[in-house]
Amino acid sequence: MSEIRIESVNKSFGDKLAVNDANLTIHEQEFLVLVGPSGCGKTTLLRAIAGLGMADSGRITIGGRDVTYLPPRQRNISMVFQSYAIFPHMTVRDNIGFGLKMNGEDSKEIDRRVNDAAELLHIEELLDRRPAAMSGGQRQRVAVARALAMQAEVLLMDEPLSNLDALLRLEMRAELKKLLAEVNATTVYVTHDQIEALSMGDRVAVMKDGIIQQVADPTTVYDRPANRFVGSFIGNPPMNFVDGVLDRSSGGPVAVKVGEVTLSPDAEVDSAVRDINGDRVVVGIRAENMEALAEAKDGAFAVDVSVVEPLGSQNLLTMDVAGHRMKISTHPSFPVEAGQRLWIRFPGDKIRWVDPNTEAMIYE
Ligand code: ATP
Repeated sequence: MSEIRIESVNKSFGDKLAVNDANLTIHEQEFLVLVGPSGCGKTTLLRAIAGLGMADSGRITIGGRDVTYLPPRQRNISMVFQSYAIFPHMTVRDNIGFGLKMNGEDSKEIDRRVNDAAELLHIEELLDRRPAAMSGGQRQRVAVARALAMQAEVLLMDEPLSNLDALLRLEMRAELKKLLAEVNATTVYVTHDQIEALSMGDRVAVMKDGIIQQVADPTTVYDRPANRFVGSFIGNPPMNFVDGVLDRSSGGPVAVKVGEVTLSPDAEVDSAVRDINGDRVVVGIRAENMEALAEAKDGAFAVDVSVVEPLGSQNLLTMDVAGHRMKISTHPSFPVEAGQRLWIRFPGDKIRWVDPNTEAMIYE
């Protein structure tokens, strides 16, 4: 059993509340990614799970055992750091076996586990080399092999790919995902890279200012973000947002004016949008969810395209909608040039409604 439960955990540094009332359950054998901008508290939370920086208050259990104030070695965890933290003067074999030796394992068992871990990471031929004579990608594999050799129930990883170049990072991302699916550990993985988070995690926990904003599977976090921050942090380009004015005068369904265009919330969210305090609502929509039209149509915004970025599989267009800069992606077969006039429609089921008072998204 290696479920991790984090209950009302707080951690401050001086006046700075780095982790603010974190509540999170990571299921047995789950791969959970903690993601958020620099300084949001993800490393602090990971270190509290590891026992490298104790929580100020709250409770952390691993497999039902309260570990909140236990030292790391009593938690049955292993960790991979961004810096890899491998010893330059030791061979790869000794590096991978180091923790096992410290734990007093017998040398046969150490050999067996070192060889198994090296085989999993495809570094058998490097076992007698020293890290100084290896590439970043190879060192990264050694650090992961060392963590896996411990056969801990919980694997904690802090930005393990961020020192690699872009191509290697892309390769290692898929490799690590496949590998971790095979080893059955409960994994918590910290990254500031939202693409890495979406592509690797069974679930993703998005943090901002020490607060966990949303915990959900990657599709939900992308498609149904909990609030404006999650919509703009997750996804590249970020979700577009534009201000709308609520018109409740009909007594019937509420109308939302965005510039010259009137939008109508779906029946499921109509009453919640109507209940927003004040007469403003924020309309969110992703770049790929808008329809681009070559001719005017009812309910479409007339826009002038200011920039066209051809990205191969799509064109990314920049334009102004009701005074807000927006990005829309179109299929490369749709003809468009900078300076051209287009009409843009927001399909009703793709619009996300944001309460401007709370910044929370409104769902049925
Ligand atoms: P990054 O991606 O930049 O590592 P992060 O999300 O992991 O960021 P943390 O390292 O957890 O963020 O830091 C959270 C906040 O706590 C930041 O404001 C940071 O400056 C502060 N902080 C972290 N460690 C310490 C420390 N040892 N002493 C003082 N402040 C700290």
